[in-house]
Order: sequence, then structure tokens, then C-alpha cells
Amino acid sequence: MSSYLKTTPNSEGFFGEYGGAQLPPPLEPHFTEIRETYEKISKLSDFIRDLRYIRKHFQGRPTPVSHLKNLSNLTGGAQIYAKREDLNHTGAHKLNHCMGEGLLAKFMGKKKLMAETGAGQHGVALATAAAYFGMDCEIHMGEIDIAKEAPNVTRMKLLGAKVVPVGFGGRSLKEAVDSCFESYMSQADKALFAIGSVVGPHPFPMIVRDFQHVIGIEAREQFLDMTGDLPDIVAACVGGGSNAMGIFSGFIDDANVALYGVEPMGTSSKLGEHAATIAFGEDGDIHGFRTMVLKDANGDPAPVHTVASGLDYPGIGPEHAHLYRTGKANYTSANDRESLNAFYAMSRHEGIIPALESAHALAFAIRAAPKNPGKSILINLSGRGDKDIDYVTETFGFGED
Ligand SMILES: *Cc1c(COP(=O)(O)O)cnc(C)c1O
Repeated sequence: MSSYLKTTPNSEGFFGEYGGAQLPPPLEPHFTEIRETYEKISKLSDFIRDLRYIRKHFQGRPTPVSHLKNLSNLTGGAQIYAKREDLNHTGAHKLNHCMGEGLLAKFMGKKKLMAETGAGQHGVALATAAAYFGMDCEIHMGEIDIAKEAPNVTRMKLLGAKVVPVGFGGRSLKEAVDSCFESYMSQADKALFAIGSVVGPHPFPMIVRDFQHVIGIEAREQFLDMTGDLPDIVAACVGGGSNAMGIFSGFIDDANVALYGVEPMGTSSKLGEHAATIAFGEDGDIHGFRTMVLKDANGDPAPVHTVASGLDYPGIGPEHAHLYRTGKANYTSANDRESLNAFYAMSRHEGIIPALESAHALAFAIRAAPKNPGKSILINLSGRGDKDIDYVTETFGFGED
């Protein structure tokens, strides 16, 4: 493992000033148990062997790296490549950490996986893991999201999960988190709360990063194989930041590789119309950890908007706040329009319909390519866009040309 990954976070779960665990006292022993057993179990050869087996024979890993030749020619300048997490089973990177969390739960003797979900992507990935391991699954989801994301609710139910509708407050992701924590408190001895990104109290930002590290390990080796060199730029979209940490972690000790996190600029830079936490946020606490947060006038987490619901979060993983503050990674943004254009361009010219989330990383690559002739840009294509096609075509049509 690289020297950065070995030393970060520290034993209290801090990435520099960010991270940590602010927990209600009843949950403290459970998080201590998860941390201590993870540290032991993740080094066991049985655990590593089982996880490798799952990666290969269930998830379909390694996923390839594709050279986007047509888009590179059309854009001019840098050559653009994509790490194909859209080809991971269930169509996105989320299954990487859900299978890891499921295996951890199995080794811990837990019988149940539980989580909140917003658009339903994490819920589907976790329900998949629960089915694989023969565990119960409980997913908390706001009533508004249940109505909006019916196909994912159907998937979760087919996979055997119990979907708990959350009917208080804004009836969306934030309330789903609160509701799930509440339910977890009474069954933490038999259930694992499987957090869906590199967020939440320690040890989850570390655990989820470790399980996503497979993206970066594969991508580095594959890129070297294909081109004989490392990429000049590696880019990924950032919601909570798990797919970005996955690919960044493979290149974090390579001084000549520039890392770019791409945040959603939504419809404008006005508060409430984007979810660009690093661009406009300040230091603060959210969901039990210290990070950067988009705040409203009262200092509470602000409402956010982006065309890509998987990027809709007013905070960010603590490690990204740290990489930003230390200059180890760069952060930029793409707005709804640029991301939609990238969505159409990738579909038409490469035969790959990307998730709207991933299209943010591609929009950055298309913008950066002409300014970087002779260089190479590797983006993480975090997921496939099948989930987005009805919304995109009904709202925006089929794109130009
Ligand atoms: C959930 C999701 C994301 C955002 O999550 P991160 O933790 O920021 O990676 C990005 N892309 C896809 C396809 C997703 O489903």
C-alpha cells in the first residue's frame, strides 16, 4: 500500500483537520467494534481471498479502461480515457464498497445490512450485497424519493430488501439518514449500517475508500499497460466522493499525475442551485464528522441542486476537504448544461451512455483536452446512464446534431 494511504487517516480517523467521529453515546461502542474488527479482519487472508473471488466472479472485475478515440479526435488536444465502472455489476462503482461492507458484516457475524438511500442507487447496491450474502436488508428512503425513483424501489424489493418510507420533515435523504440511525440504534448488535460514500463518522470514510481502492489499483496498471506511461490528469465526479477516492488512491503517490475532483455547479453558482461544496462551502460538521459544508444563512446545511441526483449532498468526504486544503488534489466544477452535453456526446460518439454523475467528469475532460495537447486524461466513468435516459430525453430531448 502507498505511503499516503498507510498514514492517512490517523488512528482517530482524521485526515488532517477533517473527519473524526461525533457519535451519540449509545452508538460509540458499536463504531468502536466496527473499527477494531475492520482493522483485524481486513488483513486476514481469508477475507482478502473471499473479496478477490467476489470481485472476479460476481462483480465481473477487472473493469476495462477504454480509450475514447472519437471524442478525443473531436475535442482535439489531450487523449481521453475512461475507467469503466459502468461495467461493474449493477452498473456503478457503489457495489465495490457494498460487497466489501457485506463481507465485513459476514465476518462480524451480523445478520443484516441497513442504510439510507436518496435516489436509490446505494439502496440497490446494498440490497444486491445482502441477497448475495443471504442477509436481511433494511433501506430507509424519503417518501418524495420513493415516488420519484420507482424503478429503484422495485429493484430493491425484488432483491428482497425491506424499504422503509420516511414521512417526516422534507421526506428526503436527510430525514432518511436520521430515520436509519434511529432504527439502527435498537439493532446495532445484529446489523451493520453500511454507509454509501466516503462520509459519516470514522471508520466509514476509510473503509469505503479502502473498498473503492480497487478502481485505482486496476486503472493504474491497465493504463501503464495500454500506453506505457501514467496519465497526466485523473478526474472523477464528487458527490460524497467515493468513486473519486477510489481512482485517486491509485495515483496518490505519483507526483506527476494531477488529480481533479469535479463538483456539480447545477444551474448557477447561487446557493441552492448547485452542490459545489469545495467551491462555496466552509468548515463545519455534518452527519457526525468534520468537513466542508455548504451552509445557509443560519449555518445549517443548505439546500442543493444538480441534474445528477447522486451528487446531491451539501457536504463532502473529509478526505477530499483534506486533499483540497493540502493541494494534493484540485477541485473544479461542471454545470448541468455542460454535463448534459457530455452525456449526449459520449452516447453518440462512443456508444456509451454515461450516468449523469459521471458525465460531470467527462465534461471537465472535454473542457481540459484542448488546453493539454499531447497529454492524457483518465476519467472515472462511475456508472451507466440507463437510469437517466427517461428523465434526460423527456426534459431535454435528444441533444443536437
Ligand atoms: C452515487 C453515485 C455517484 C456519487 O457518489 P460518490 O460517493 O461521490 O462517488 C457518482 N456516480 C454514480 C454513477 C453514482 O451512482
